[in-house]
Amino acid sequence: MDSIGDVLATLRAVPPWGWACGIVAGVFLGWLLGRIAGSRGRPARRQVRDENEVSVLRDLKSSVARLEAENTALSNFFLLLPDFTKEINSRMERRAIAPLLVKITERLFAPTQVLLFFLDDRVNTLILVQQRGLAEDVKIGFQVNMGEGRIGWVAQHKVPMDTNDFIREMRQSGASLEVPGHFRFKTELCAPMVHEGRNLGVISVGGITRHYKYEKTMLNLIADLGSIALYNNTLFSQVQEMANSDGLTKLYNKRFFMNRLSDEIIKAEKGHYPVSVFIFDLDHFKHYNDTQGHQAGDEVLKITGQILREMVRPDDIPARYGGEEFIVILPQTPKDGAMVAAERIRARVASHPYPNRESQPLKTVSLSGGVATFPDDGRNGTDLIASADAALYRGKQAGRNRVIRAETKYFSDGTEDAYYGVRNG
Ligand code: GH3
Ligand code: MG
Ligand code: MG
Repeated sequence: MDSIGDVLATLRAVPPWGWACGIVAGVFLGWLLGRIAGSRGRPARRQVRDENEVSVLRDLKSSVARLEAENTALSNFFLLLPDFTKEINSRMERRAIAPLLVKITERLFAPTQVLLFFLDDRVNTLILVQQRGLAEDVKIGFQVNMGEGRIGWVAQHKVPMDTNDFIREMRQSGASLEVPGHFRFKTELCAPMVHEGRNLGVISVGGITRHYKYEKTMLNLIADLGSIALYNNTLFSQVQEMANSDGLTKLYNKRFFMNRLSDEIIKAEKGHYPVSVFIFDLDHFKHYNDTQGHQAGDEVLKITGQILREMVRPDDIPARYGGEEFIVILPQTPKDGAMVAAERIRARVASHPYPNRESQPLKTVSLSGGVATFPDDGRNGTDLIASADAALYRGKQAGRNRVIRAETKYFSDGTEDAYYGVRNG
């Protein structure tokens, strides 16, 4: 009891500021203990928060990885693009465009199949011109009609599509884009080659192993560049054709002819074979113009050009040499063979029912011509034509409506044995 009394006495002896300090210290201690106890009492909430943080981090990481992959893919694409654009626009041959388009598509998507169709606008049909990864039973030249299957759909609607787009389209329109004839085609991604609203073809990609977020846009860009190249190529061919052809007869003109003759002589020299030329001039053509009029004269020239075009072989090169003068290169043809071909053309012109031919001095429209052959009658183009022209002149003097062979200028060294059998008529 004494000790309790002592304690009470001591407590009573504590001054008021001592009490205040004690209370403050107590409150602080309590708060501290409370914090410790509290932190031990909420482990589950803390864990949830940690897990959330980890999952956010994981998401962020995968987003960064995805963005990095997309970035790399886009960088690759933009690295490929300038070379491709340069290459595709420097190719003036139409047949060089298709392999280039397929090559870049393969490099981009690493697919198992690439199909390239060009539109044949005469029949409004897509023609398979280049392919990779297609079974052998589908050949180059395979035709797809407008609107037929996935490829025909893209050509008709001029819209790039991916698999989801095709499924959506089939669901919405109810139309089947799966055609039995196209079961070999793996069209996962497909873009039209459109230039100024006109469709020129379609690229189809299947079995894609390298996907991109913007793959539809990427393929569409390739297709657009392809269509520009195709269009440029068409323009270039048209301009070239105009520059090389004669406006009235649509045959080659003299300038083009002379270049080709030089080329053919070089080839003949290398290959040790002959090349002949047949030049002819219409008889009394001034008379025809004077009696029938210049326009009727033009018609005769057009018809004669057409006859010439029809009568020569695919390898021969017919041209309008001047006013009413025509000329043909007959590659790999000795003089005898060229004479047979020339005589056939003469006979055909003489028998053709040109309007009012009976009013001509020879009662028909006719020609006089000369045939000369490399190397015996001339060693270069100009020389060869001069020989043929001299023969033509002799034909005129001999009464017209005939073909004369050139007088041999150079005697060959016996190698003409090699010429025989190349072409005889
Ligand atoms: P020859 O039998 O000796 O060849 O007599 P020709 O009357 O045919 O010869 P000439 O050289 O005297 O006349 C050629 C004529 O061809 C004269 C020219 O008016 C005509 N001619 C040349 N180019 C054209 C053309 O593009 N259209 C027409 N209608 N006539 C042409
Ligand atoms: Mg003439
Ligand atoms: Mg004439």
